[in-house]
Amino acid sequence: MSVALFTLGGTIAMAGAVGSATGTVVNRLTGADLTAAVPGLAELGVTLDVQDVQAVPSGDLTFDQVLDVVAAASRAVAAGAVGVVVTQGTDTLEETAYLVDLVWPHPEPFVLTGAMRNPTLAGPDGPANLLAAARVAAADAARGLGALVVLGDEIHAARRVRKAHSTSTAAFTSPNVGPIGHVIEGAVRVLATPTRPAPLAVPSPTAALAGTRVALYTVALDDDGALLAGLADTHQGLVVAGFGVGHVPSALAPVLGALAGRIPVVLTSRTGAGSVLRHTYGAVGSETDLQRRGLINGGLLDPYKARVLLRLLLATGADPKAVAAGFAEHG
Ligand code: ASP
Repeated sequence: MSVALFTLGGTIAMAGAVGSATGTVVNRLTGADLTAAVPGLAELGVTLDVQDVQAVPSGDLTFDQVLDVVAAASRAVAAGAVGVVVTQGTDTLEETAYLVDLVWPHPEPFVLTGAMRNPTLAGPDGPANLLAAARVAAADAARGLGALVVLGDEIHAARRVRKAHSTSTAAFTSPNVGPIGHVIEGAVRVLATPTRPAPLAVPSPTAALAGTRVALYTVALDDDGALLAGLADTHQGLVVAGFGVGHVPSALAPVLGALAGRIPVVLTSRTGAGSVLRHTYGAVGSETDLQRRGLINGGLLDPYKARVLLRLLLATGADPKAVAAGFAEHG
């Protein structure tokens, strides 16, 4: 039984730079180094076919690179891999995992993992996370669940997971649902099955994504929206992270309404959990007012995931109606 392992760098693959006296770590470890450092991996009965793709901090990853990995993973599955593991930095993992989940068409599990503590520290979590990820990728119980994020022996649905702490080894949480499963004494236990809409089309990477810029704007107290001037000339879409259930200062409502007349503008909540509402508040700048002005309701999607979905939809040529339908289905 084989699992395809793609490595993309990140803390899990970082070590002290050779000859450096500063004590900082850089991307340096290969897939062979990572797998060699995992006690119990060899005894799993799973062959890991390693492909070292990138060695970068995850803040340097692009949609194109992630979609290239998806294509390579599809080829690996067609060649007989029972599942896929990707190691990468944790900083953007909640976004890359969702991008993968939106397009992954196979029943084979696509598992993303990383580490919060690098291998030079006492108690690095990378080896345990890689072992758990390999177990999940090879598990029958994880088939059909799409992209999964596995850290700390917890299994999270890509669609719901957030990085909610900057340093804790328990940084990954799914605020609206909790983990959908656990790895317990080496056994993969799935406790809830996420609903997954049909996979979206993959854009022709280089052309379509390069021409599709989606901005993310977080609303704040006493915000006059000056930063939004001219945005529709440089961007093809906008995600607004509003207050609470999807509100903005009343002065911003016409600004956002004017933008929504030119590009898709998606309304989300900056709170980190819960949904934006649809029909409760009526003031200027409330969710009903903004929807009347043409903003699209992002539902339960957090701002980062909404941005991933909007960029993917726009890059595949979705018109405003199709964008609204996409958020109605995925949000
Ligand atoms: N800054 C690092 C990165 O995202 C953190 C990590 O790997 O967890 O690559």
